[in-house]
Amino acid sequence: MSKVALITGATRGIGRQIAITLAKEGYDIAINYRKENKDLINTKQAIEENNVRCLAVQGDVSNFEETEKFVKEVISEYGKIDVLVNNAGITKDMLLMRMKEEDFKSVIDVNLIGTFNVTKNVIPHMMKARSGRIINISSVVGVTGNAGQTNYSASKAGIIGFTKSLAKEVGSRNIAVNAIAPGFIETNMTDVLKDEVKDEIAKNIPLKRMGNTQDVANVVKFLASEESSYITGQVINVDGGMVM
Ligand code: NAP
Repeated sequence: MSKVALITGATRGIGRQIAITLAKEGYDIAINYRKENKDLINTKQAIEENNVRCLAVQGDVSNFEETEKFVKEVISEYGKIDVLVNNAGITKDMLLMRMKEEDFKSVIDVNLIGTFNVTKNVIPHMMKARSGRIINISSVVGVTGNAGQTNYSASKAGIIGFTKSLAKEVGSRNIAVNAIAPGFIETNMTDVLKDEVKDEIAKNIPLKRMGNTQDVANVVKFLASEESSYITGQVINVDGGMVM
């Protein structure tokens, strides 16, 4: 029986590459989406090209009822979830002086509460199975902080605390919980940066380039695999050495 991975926010960017990479490893895949669009159709196709199943379930991670519903759909289709990747995330950057309350709250709601919502609905199934892997996508700015990102950094630091606490709670049930902290990865999220800014960032990275989505997906593949079975509660930076 194939292993099953649920990846949130996988219509594009890092999540999409994670889903395709796990599909290449033979996992049956479940992804969620908010609205049906071209990205969703393309990603579903790219996953299915690997001769695995792909279930797309509708739901916003910041809405508990919707996550409850879509996790139920995944369980009723596949009967289990072996790997959960909490990847869905947004930014709404602004200096605190000018940040609106709603922009602080919405980033926390999607990034941090969203991670809680999906995990809370998945964990009973992993507890029952006495096995599971949860991989949360944080960010280096959750460790270092970043001007203009108090909301985002707080959400990503929250994910790190969440990861470590849950790892301690569920380790005895053979469930490993880890976080990945990417640096600058080329996706829509970083497309908003001007080329000069990107060049400047790359200059300050020891490996002298921005990361790509595969760099992150490779580490997810490892954390989902048997090779990482003695690793839990860790935050693994995938940042070209930017933070050390
Ligand atoms: P992206 O290209 O903007 O993609 C974000 C994904 O999240 C999309 O699939 C989006 O779906 C989904 N999403 C957003 N809000 C959602 C919600 N409320 N419910 C369900 N899905 C939602 O972002 P990315 O760069 O791939 O980032 C992926 C993760 O990596 C995020 O957690 C981000 O914080 C983290 N990260 C990224 C970088 C970077 O440099 N790119 C660095 C560090 C960490 P829709 O199509 O519905 O919008």
